[in-house]
Amino acid sequence: MHIRLLGTGGADGIPAMYSNTRVSQHARAHGGKDIRSRTAAVIDDVLKIDFGPDTWHQLAREGLDAQDWTAVLFTHSDADHFAIDELQYALYPFNECEFAGFQIYGNAVICRAIMERYPEWPFEVVMTHNFEPFEHGGYTITPILPRHKESEEAHNFIFEADGKRFLYATDTGVYFDRTFEYLAGKRMDCVVIECTEGFVHTPYNGHLDVKDLHLVLDRLRANGTIDHGTLIVTTHHSHNGDATHNELEQALNPHGILVGFDGMTIEI
Ligand SMILES: [Zn+2]
Repeated sequence: MHIRLLGTGGADGIPAMYSNTRVSQHARAHGGKDIRSRTAAVIDDVLKIDFGPDTWHQLAREGLDAQDWTAVLFTHSDADHFAIDELQYALYPFNECEFAGFQIYGNAVICRAIMERYPEWPFEVVMTHNFEPFEHGGYTITPILPRHKESEEAHNFIFEADGKRFLYATDTGVYFDRTFEYLAGKRMDCVVIECTEGFVHTPYNGHLDVKDLHLVLDRLRANGTIDHGTLIVTTHHSHNGDATHNELEQALNPHGILVGFDGMTIEI
């Protein structure tokens, strides 16, 4: 399985527009891994996870072609993950395609929004539910419940293929017990997990800071979901987390956690 992190920023990216936080200023001055577009990933160049407002830029930057996608899977409907207007470019009159080359998977809110926005368009939309695995193109995909966006059925995803298992965990929060229970004994080869709040602890429990991240990883370790051989990579970093890429590496690398960055590729 080849995993490519297309974006690793929080809702407003880094540097954030209209922001003078230290991290935004640092990113403007230094560029490199501190520039974080809105979180998204693609597996084996065919399974696209989320379709946010930076998708065009991410594909151009990486030399990727959206025509390779067989599926677009949505975690939830927040604007940084679901840029519904961008879907129109998949079809005529923007090109010659009468049908999109990809199937769309999303929760009820996503499905309804697409049907209302494109009533006459032939998008194939499949509704997804937490803890109900489905098959697509040789992959078994299981949405699982995060503690995020509780007004809808938000998802994290487990991907399984060729004896490998990968957990994509954004946006996450500290999981509910039933999610930890579901994950028990399911060993992951790789976990990509949010660390939105970095070094800043807030009362909001729909995102993880560094402390919460350790808490979640400790439970996953106790559960048998991760072990010393599991690759752990962070994503969905906010400028409000007061942590540059380097500072995150100093804090997390000693614990065997890699800090994700835009364009990072992972092979499992
Ligand atoms: Zn988000």
